[in-house]
Amino acid sequence: MKIVRIHNELLGTYGDRGNADVLAYRAGLNGITSTVVDVSYRDAMPTDGDIYLLGGAEDAAQVLSCEALRGFDFSDRVVLAVCAGFQILGNSYYAGGVKHVGLGVIDMETVPGTSRFVGDIKISSDVVGADLTGFENHGGKTNLADGITPLGGVITGMGNGGGDVDGAVVGNVFGTYLHGPVLARNPEFADLLLERAVGHPLPRVNDALADEYAQWRRASF
Ligand code: GLN
Repeated sequence: MKIVRIHNELLGTYGDRGNADVLAYRAGLNGITSTVVDVSYRDAMPTDGDIYLLGGAEDAAQVLSCEALRGFDFSDRVVLAVCAGFQILGNSYYAGGVKHVGLGVIDMETVPGTSRFVGDIKISSDVVGADLTGFENHGGKTNLADGITPLGGVITGMGNGGGDVDGAVVGNVFGTYLHGPVLARNPEFADLLLERAVGHPLPRVNDALADEYAQWRRASF
């Protein structure tokens, strides 16, 4: 399995690079050999990846990354996009107070929020089949178009900025505001992405410490 970590030099501000390591580790528990491939923003995007990862970023880095990705088709791929990475998959977003055209993978728009949304976040995700916890830190407020499914409903925090829902799911493209890294905090989400990548259900792996940590965080706020 090829896990593609995109533009970590730009999209690495919030530690989301750890999502790749969690996927590789849990793939290994399933007997699946994997490699994590780091792609710089000056490199061509590989088209043979099994899972593509986008992380959070400062505004200027977010614009550079978005422009470098223009023309790459994410729509039929397994994608996890966090925060800035999530925002650039929409139709438009703001960076440095300026509106930018996004990659148009998810029908949504991100506008400046009334304040910056910073803190612990917990959502209930039917898509993953679990409550998910993380940490959010963003200025953008994301408005999903009618019919776009969120990743989950907000229990604590602001999520897309309205305090009602977080993220979006379109096919195998998953967006969220949860840092953590989100897959380290929520192993069920990592396993869902692995299942989407291999195309069939996988047996639940035995990683008791990861499960214990996830449950502890879910109960802590
Ligand atoms: N720069 C974007 C914002 O502030 C995304 C921030 C992030 O990725 N954490 O909304």
